[in-house]
Amino acid sequence: MNEYDSNRIYDLVSTIGFNKTENKKEADCFLLNTCHIRKKATEKVYDEIGRVKKDFRNLKKPIVIISGCVAQAESIEMIKREPYIDIVVGPQSYHKIGDLILDYKRKRKKVNETEFDVVKKFDELEKIPNLQNKISSYLTIQEGCDKFCHFCVVPYTRGPEYSRTFKQIISEAHNLVENGVKEIVLLGQNVNAYNFFENNKNYKLSSLIKELNNIKKLKRIRFTTSHPKDMTEDLINCYRDCDKLMPFLHLPIQSGSDQILKSMNRKHDKKYYLSVIEKLRNVRKDIKISSDFIVGYPGETEKDFEDTIDIIKKVSFINSYSFIFSPRPGTPASAKTLNSLKENEKKLIKLQNILEKFQIKNNENYIQQTCEVLVENKLKNQERYFGRTRFMDPVIFESNNCEIGRLLDIKITSCNQKNLFGHHQINRKNVA
Ligand code: SF4
Repeated sequence: MNEYDSNRIYDLVSTIGFNKTENKKEADCFLLNTCHIRKKATEKVYDEIGRVKKDFRNLKKPIVIISGCVAQAESIEMIKREPYIDIVVGPQSYHKIGDLILDYKRKRKKVNETEFDVVKKFDELEKIPNLQNKISSYLTIQEGCDKFCHFCVVPYTRGPEYSRTFKQIISEAHNLVENGVKEIVLLGQNVNAYNFFENNKNYKLSSLIKELNNIKKLKRIRFTTSHPKDMTEDLINCYRDCDKLMPFLHLPIQSGSDQILKSMNRKHDKKYYLSVIEKLRNVRKDIKISSDFIVGYPGETEKDFEDTIDIIKKVSFINSYSFIFSPRPGTPASAKTLNSLKENEKKLIKLQNILEKFQIKNNENYIQQTCEVLVENKLKNQERYFGRTRFMDPVIFESNNCEIGRLLDIKITSCNQKNLFGHHQINRKNVA
């Protein structure tokens, strides 16, 4: 979502005369769009500001802006602690960034703008075209979260669930496709909680997918990140009915232990999660699933951990993320007693080794097979290209006749844990 927000911030500041520069030292304005999910996010921001200060020691000071979730969480404290910062703006207020900069330039007065003004934000953003022209682009449809998992800061930094209007989203999707975008990734902190009412009609994520599926020049649709509780039948059936919806889903479970899931306030148990996977596989046999895992959540026993290993084996997850639990200030879990770090590290290694085996097996299954790849870009100074399979697997391939944005048949010849390698089957009929 930060990538989407950063691009939109760039669209906004372009309207007041700012351009991107690759040369940091010539910048008039320095903006850090921050994320609060990872450990020590706040300290990393101050470290970065330290580097900027050093770089600009003998130069004209740039306007320094901190945006995103760290700005939301820390607010005015950031300016108090580091007066080199000029503007602090939260993720639901960044539509005001142009005015904030102009105001600051006039008055030289520090600004803290951290209101939850999400409706206004999307109304304002609608007036500025989304100029992303990457082959695969993000499109935010929903923000915030009402789930309040005990380890997570999102409900506090992004606020309550808010769904953009159906019309706004479809119009932005058409613009993106006209700009050359071939794949749209619908985004939300809780993307499948998308829920918008207008004229007695209820629009859900499934309504958006069905509508996007009709856009002729659009080739692929994905969405992220989903909560298991919101994997409703209508959404699951999209995997059967919408040919452009790719057969890959990132569905975080966090733990395979019912006791830990309860303590995390996840609102689902292991049985329910497995029932969702079963329904998905009933409508789309080849669907592949990735997930997130938190290892060493406070109170996690050996048995709880083994339950997580058990579900990994049952589902055969690919491309998953795993971390040791680390407390986020202000969340209920941050008040709990931490498990031994040494034990947690051992568990994480074990879990990641198992995930790695599934990932390698997944990649090896491609060898000598031909698969459909959406070509995203050419690698710098090489006759090699980068694209992704229908299942999101990254592919690096050789070709001397390749067009960015096309779906091509690629013969996979080798792999490592992260990438597939192959070549373009020039003589095969390519998918237009
Ligand atoms: S559902 Fe996701 S975003 Fe919402 S609180 Fe839980 S982990 Fe955070």
